[in-house]
Amino acid sequence: MTSPDSLRPTRRATVSVDVGGVLVGSAHPVVVQSMTNTDTADADATAIQVARLAHAGSQLVRVTVNTDAAAAAVPEMVRKVRGLGVDVPIVGDFHYNGHKLLADHPTTASLLAKYRINPGNVGAKRHDEHFATIVKIAIDNGKAVRIGVNWGSLDQAILTELMEANARAAQPRDARDVIIEAMLESAMRSAELAEATGMGHDRIVLSAKVSGVRDLVDVYRLLGARSDYPLHLGLTEAGMGDKGIVASTAGLAILLNEGIGDTIRVSLTPEPGAPREREVEVAQQVLQSMGLRSFLPQVSACPGCGRTTSTFFQEMAQQIQTYLKDQMPIWRETHPGAEELRVAVMGCVVNGPGESKHADIGISLPGTFEEPVAPVFIDGRLDRTLRGDGLVAEFIEILEAYVADRFPTPTAEAATQD
Ligand code: SF4
Repeated sequence: MTSPDSLRPTRRATVSVDVGGVLVGSAHPVVVQSMTNTDTADADATAIQVARLAHAGSQLVRVTVNTDAAAAAVPEMVRKVRGLGVDVPIVGDFHYNGHKLLADHPTTASLLAKYRINPGNVGAKRHDEHFATIVKIAIDNGKAVRIGVNWGSLDQAILTELMEANARAAQPRDARDVIIEAMLESAMRSAELAEATGMGHDRIVLSAKVSGVRDLVDVYRLLGARSDYPLHLGLTEAGMGDKGIVASTAGLAILLNEGIGDTIRVSLTPEPGAPREREVEVAQQVLQSMGLRSFLPQVSACPGCGRTTSTFFQEMAQQIQTYLKDQMPIWRETHPGAEELRVAVMGCVVNGPGESKHADIGISLPGTFEEPVAPVFIDGRLDRTLRGDGLVAEFIEILEAYVADRFPTPTAEAATQD
């Protein structure tokens, strides 16, 4: 069977970068990453959040390393994360004082899997010197770097240089175009400086984040055309709730569909009390909706309409979705491949049987005025018809049997060969 990962369009051959054992770039599956929002100086709170994000499926987790206390706490935090049985690579996010913190805390430098450097925030006067210091420490420790440009903190020297050149031009360009050009220049010149300092070409990831969807698309199309480095993709400051999810999805989907983006982060502002893992779930859903990766069985459910006057079908769709989400961590071990399962829960006879036939397993509930029966389809064929009050439980039983049959538990021998 064709793997969803093989459907990924290719932008061109990129190099791949090893980040603590996770391969980013080239033909490797797009990597999901996230970032903590705890004070890294609080090793307990940060370790717990790192573990939660990893448990949700984040393959890389970035932590802020902004103060001496935060840098000093990293070894204890990493020890606690590993103590929780979590081996996710942990990335350090540095601004302003990264050169100093990494030099002053060699154990921290050795434990982080990658350093994020913002070339707009390494100091104006001794910019190149500070940048090179971080790169040298990365080289000495065998670490990768991400050169992460952000238009909220764009390198002012480059921006001024390009703005002045633009002002002298016979046909000046829009300020927006100059800003985009400055971002690209900042990323590319920094990558050149890193390589001139001795960093391997295959140890560099680039990003150039903006907060507008169309700007994001323009910036990354240009960046993707100019370099073969793996690209970290994400809409910065995406915002809260639906706005953040929709804006991130809109931008990521366009670019991913063009094969641009090797690792993604969805930078959601959490609603008060909401779990940080939401950004991981959304990133996974973006990739799975596009057929690029599989994380969780997908439920197709119709929106309902005047033909479904009760909420029963909505409740059933929700119960099945929750059941699948709860089961997946277990199935990942016992029934590998179950994440590719497609389930349909439909509200009436109009599209119900058709959509259910397209799914691996589907149920078409009776709409208003229809005979109170619910045909179940398996692999495109009518398997049986359910009726009565126990529909959800019966359907879940059928689902379990299907998963057990189609995604058998690996034998001990097969598991060892893996
Ligand atoms: S499948 Fe039936 S209930 Fe669902 S939206 Fe279509 S017509 Fe309405």
